[in-house]
Amino acid sequence: MTERNTTGQPQVLKKDGSRLKKRPFRVEKLIQRAITAALVLAVLIPTVLAIELEASLVRIKAELSQAQQSGGVPAADGGERYQASTGGGDPGERLPAPSGQRDSGPERPAYQDLYPELYAQSHEWNTVSKEKVCYLTFDDGPSARTPEVLEILERYGVKATFFVVGKDTEQSRQWMRDIVQAGHTIGVHSFTHNYRKIYDSVEAWLDDFAQEYRLIEAATGVSPQIFRFPGGSINAYNGHIYQEIAGEMVRRGFVYFDWNRSNGDAVRKPPAAPVLARNALDKLGTSSRVIILMHDSRSHASTVEALPAIIEGYQSAGYSLEALTPEVRPIVYAYPKP
Ligand SMILES: [Zn+2]
Repeated sequence: MTERNTTGQPQVLKKDGSRLKKRPFRVEKLIQRAITAALVLAVLIPTVLAIELEASLVRIKAELSQAQQSGGVPAADGGERYQASTGGGDPGERLPAPSGQRDSGPERPAYQDLYPELYAQSHEWNTVSKEKVCYLTFDDGPSARTPEVLEILERYGVKATFFVVGKDTEQSRQWMRDIVQAGHTIGVHSFTHNYRKIYDSVEAWLDDFAQEYRLIEAATGVSPQIFRFPGGSINAYNGHIYQEIAGEMVRRGFVYFDWNRSNGDAVRKPPAAPVLARNALDKLGTSSRVIILMHDSRSHASTVEALPAIIEGYQSAGYSLEALTPEVRPIVYAYPKP
């Protein structure tokens, strides 16, 4: 006869009610379980090791490839070191990971606890991916050129994006307010724009970013949601740490944008306006989404001068000129593929 015990297991009883000896049966079952476990481990362990080994190889290859790519020298003005896109196509368009995931595992880096207010607002990722759109971007401002750029954008009724740096003067704060009030996007570029300093560690990056973030907030009331890495997301100074910094910023919900066109003004003596316009209009029509890198600083008068021809060129080719937002699918340099 059998009856159910509290665990739901059948329990065999003798006629006198005492339990049958089940020891041999249990031992046999234990042996069977041990064999099964050993077989599972025999399959799992090599599989896990293979996956880890492959991941390591991918990482090492990526780092090697990065080291080969980053042999250039920075721009003489400390500005962007533009790496021309090859073949006229976009650099890689990488889908960022979803935001808002805070790790709670034992390996959680301490820098995740720094600046607990430094998180982007929640937003949809990659929901804006229009065809024939051109995003004009101006780095290193604001400057005495900013009002001139704003006037031209206003004249053509187009929007643009300004990735600004740390100029903590009342005049700079006013220029930042002018950018925001005209409906353009303001994003973080850097406070110090000092490559060696900001790419020294994730903590150093966050210190600099937070300083600029607060400066923009205090001046404009806008909490910036997007940013641009000085030198681009992959450059000669951040090879050892770019993935960790980018990962931390994406974890905090911020979106960063590289570029797939440049007007070529990232040099100490910017070329004349016709040259800049020709650069920006190079391979017109070959990319459906274009982000143009330009610079906003006092020495960049020819950048302003070239702007109408660039806007007209893209408009006549059927492009709309818009401001970047966190929802725009980023154009970023592809991490080197293995
Ligand atoms: Zn810059």
